[in-house]
Amino acid sequence: MGSLEQRSPTPSLVEWEYVPAPEARDLVRLRERYGLFIGGEEVEPLSDEWFASISPSTEEVLFEAAQAGPEDVDRAVLAARTAFEEDWSRRPPAERAKFLFRLARLIQERSRELAVAESLDGGKPIRESRDVDVPLAAAHFFYYAGWADKLEYAFPNRRPSPRGVAAQIIPWNFPLLMLAWKIAPALACGNTVVLKPAETTPLSAMLFADLCRQAELPPGVVNIVTGDGRTGAHLVRHEGIDKVAFTGSTEVGKLIMKELAGRDVGLTLELGGKAANIVFDDAALDQAVEGIVNGIYFNQGHVCCAGSRLLVQESIYEPLLAKLKRRLSTLRVGDPLDKNTDVGAINSRAQLEKIRELVASGKEEGAEIFQPECRLPERGFWFAPTLFTNVAQSYRIAQEEIFGPVLSVLTFRTPAEAVEKANNTPYGLSAGVWTEKGSRILWMAERLRAGVVWANTYNRFDPTSPFGGYKESGFGREGGRQGLAPYLRFEEVA
Ligand code: ADP
Repeated sequence: MGSLEQRSPTPSLVEWEYVPAPEARDLVRLRERYGLFIGGEEVEPLSDEWFASISPSTEEVLFEAAQAGPEDVDRAVLAARTAFEEDWSRRPPAERAKFLFRLARLIQERSRELAVAESLDGGKPIRESRDVDVPLAAAHFFYYAGWADKLEYAFPNRRPSPRGVAAQIIPWNFPLLMLAWKIAPALACGNTVVLKPAETTPLSAMLFADLCRQAELPPGVVNIVTGDGRTGAHLVRHEGIDKVAFTGSTEVGKLIMKELAGRDVGLTLELGGKAANIVFDDAALDQAVEGIVNGIYFNQGHVCCAGSRLLVQESIYEPLLAKLKRRLSTLRVGDPLDKNTDVGAINSRAQLEKIRELVASGKEEGAEIFQPECRLPERGFWFAPTLFTNVAQSYRIAQEEIFGPVLSVLTFRTPAEAVEKANNTPYGLSAGVWTEKGSRILWMAERLRAGVVWANTYNRFDPTSPFGGYKESGFGREGGRQGLAPYLRFEEVA
């Protein structure tokens, strides 16, 4: 017993070094240039414009991608239209399912390569690409493959038919996963697709083009046009599209809505968020700390549903904050390809500047900043995990989406106050509730104006579960049976 009594009540963290554990970078054989994927072939852009894609962790140029111009978009839409009318929409649904199953299995087969590509191009830790992004992308294809020949059961008494050509624009935070969220349901419903990946992360989409060829997907069913916002704008403006699915900023979402006003084009928007992660005093604190960390530092906080506002019940504020700060100091920031990395690189210089600007505003407005000691690499775009206390609801860091590893902590006394504060935002994408009481979870879920409410967990995704927002977070749902509807037209059956 003697030796036990001599221990200090809070053991200090033992100092120890991790050895490097890099994933093999050469799992991806990078080419110098990637063209556009149109009509089942890789083609040079008619625009003759190219842009460099750089690694956010080293700033080295990885490859060049094509900047698709209006004529390229035109070609892609035409290829999609032809494939829709002459082939894909006429295929028996079970045939469509077969291709989706093939794509799902190919994602699994080439999962290591895809994971490395995602981390290399986007900066996210390989642990996340490998364990979250890629398996979930495969799961989406498996899930929607299962629906392809069961659409009339999904919507009883309504006869579903595909809409036509779907224009799909995705962001850079989950490039392959967002591609899967978009392409899998569209194809299952009999549509063809023109997809535009984000300009900082086109690589996994170009590898997916290769998967489409490997799966012998009929030419033109999936077309991929790379480029920046101008390419996206050409695509949305194109007369030949029947549906737009967009994930990105609220600002661009508004532009797209304006563009489509008065046109017979279906629209779903998945936009920004400023979610509240709410911890009650009866919650399991250690579990909650893990959920808070996962909620905001996962994927460098580049997550639209990130739990960026922590609401803590006043009575547990001190112990929770102590645990949280301690946990923050164990996060490993650095090389995305190292298997022990928790927080990778910020996706781009522009995003890093935006994070810095908002963090500076937090300090100026009077919030107190905490950052654990951590050595950031010299090259590349990095931001240490950050936590703000003493935050008022009116501060920009409590109102605006930072899209970085920055948490704002606020407090509340009663459940009603927690609801009031959680809903005090123009967004409404997600929320988290931590409590032991089931009845309180239900009470809160009923009152929180958020498309997804997680209870005693956070950032948990599943293809069977619909995802989407309220208010300025957008409309329409992706995932689940609900995710099929935006890709269909319906005829009522008497
Ligand atoms: P973020 O701020 O997260 O980069 P954006 O909304 O700017 O989000 O980008 C999301 C996607 O929308 C990207 O693929 C981008 O190229 C595209 N995009 C940007 N501007 C436009 C636009 N005016 N019309 C259509 N797409 C756009």
